[in-house]
Amino acid sequence: PPILLWLRRDLRLSDAPALSAACESGAPVIPVYIRDSLLDGLGAAPKWRLGRGLEVFGKTLEAKGSRLILRSGDPLDVLAGLVETTGAKQVFWTRLYDPESIARDSGVKEGLKAKGIDAKSFSGTLLFEPWEVETKDGGPYKVYSPFWRTVKKRDVAAPSSAPKQIPAPDTWPESEALDDWDLGRAMNRGAAVVERYAEIGEDAAGDRLAAFLEEGIDDYKAGRDRLAEAGTSGMSVFLTTGEIGPRTIWHAGMRALHEGSTGAETFLSELAWREFAWHLAYHTPRILDRNWREKWDAFPWEDDERKAEVKAWKQARTGVPLVDAGMREMQVTGTMHNRARMITASYLTKHLMVHWRVGQHWFDAHLIDRDAASNAMGWQWVAGSGPDASPFFRVFNPETQQEKFDPEGAYVRRWIAEGQDDPPETALDYFEAIPRRWARAPEDAYPDKPIVGLSEGRERALDAYGAVKD
Ligand code: FAD
Repeated sequence: PPILLWLRRDLRLSDAPALSAACESGAPVIPVYIRDSLLDGLGAAPKWRLGRGLEVFGKTLEAKGSRLILRSGDPLDVLAGLVETTGAKQVFWTRLYDPESIARDSGVKEGLKAKGIDAKSFSGTLLFEPWEVETKDGGPYKVYSPFWRTVKKRDVAAPSSAPKQIPAPDTWPESEALDDWDLGRAMNRGAAVVERYAEIGEDAAGDRLAAFLEEGIDDYKAGRDRLAEAGTSGMSVFLTTGEIGPRTIWHAGMRALHEGSTGAETFLSELAWREFAWHLAYHTPRILDRNWREKWDAFPWEDDERKAEVKAWKQARTGVPLVDAGMREMQVTGTMHNRARMITASYLTKHLMVHWRVGQHWFDAHLIDRDAASNAMGWQWVAGSGPDASPFFRVFNPETQQEKFDPEGAYVRRWIAEGQDDPPETALDYFEAIPRRWARAPEDAYPDKPIVGLSEGRERALDAYGAVKD
């Protein structure tokens, strides 16, 4: 009997333990993707990106003699239905670690087991299962550095290679059409623009990683902070859809380390931040939508989305060039440089005194590398409410940040057209990507001063911090 392979965030052939186990069994494999309420709840940009990933992965499977079967509905109902029609006795999938997925998957596992089906979950999303990393006292880590010291010494299994062929069943169950899912709908005009910048699929991920190992990793320590350079790996987007597995990246980083690459250790330690984010989300899921430190509930953050300050931030018209450049990069490419994420988040939560959740939700909708754990941890790290967060009094000053990390202004010019005689394509693309109702044009005047001044905003935030401090 065939094995159903329920795919989720693992759209790849290599470094895919669930797929490898299914193929090694010798039974026919039926790959299935289910459009359920969790998929429907995704923000516009990540949903669009997932749709593009599914399109490419469907072709990848076809090249291996297989197919991607698409179905909508409650996963247990869909899988139970497929079990009936195909005679499958086993269902395999790769584990996920957010509370909604865990609840869904355990329900599916129980439901299938009750029908006598062998439902098996595999690792593959993370390097380290969240329950396998413990402090000396036996609890989860709350601070990154000791977490890193522990995991860096761990052995990580070598990634499996892609199966040569995926055994196919004699007859395929029916599939819905990806076009009918219309996963890009909520992106509106943005989809066509982001498409110009996006790289999709497992091959693209491999090429990008190879290029980074060739050109970026040696200088990564400093290069990762230079805003105008492609000094980072670009792996986050592919990790989100699972077009690359973390073990592949880890082993590549380790090889570079052993070959003496000076940036390799820092690179591996960044990959461990993703692990740490999921470690936290698994052990304390409230980090995903509430202040991790409860005393921060007393902080007088605003969360009225209609406020002029919030609008200016979202529409990249705060009058602080570095903040606006970062926000525009995200509209145009669906990603944002890590340093710009910190600067835009700091300006929102500190200078503008707006709740980090407002920013988190905006990022949820606009990042194609949107990752629930890294996004929540990133926001709470900047806001000061998270575990091992940056101290609140560390208010990023966008002017000094620009002097340090974009001294020539190249990043700002790349994204802000206003005031330039001959703005680059990137800056013009922004006006094509944004909603028409914002009614904006490259010829507009750029705000002549920040919506909240840098020192004024800093003072106000530090005063308010008194409410939480003791
Ligand atoms: P590289 O510098 O090449 O790093 C390699 C990999 O390490 C990344 O792909 C990523 O998986 C991991 N990594 C690096 N930095 C971090 C970090 N600070 N936290 C967790 N993992 C990290 N990352 C996301 O993947 N999705 C998000 O939704 C997300 N939201 C963020 C929101 C805020 C406010 C902040 C401050 C950071 C956020 N990050 C998020 C983390 C980080 O900005 C991105 O992972 C990084 O910019 C991705 O680029 P890269 O793949 O080229 O990274």
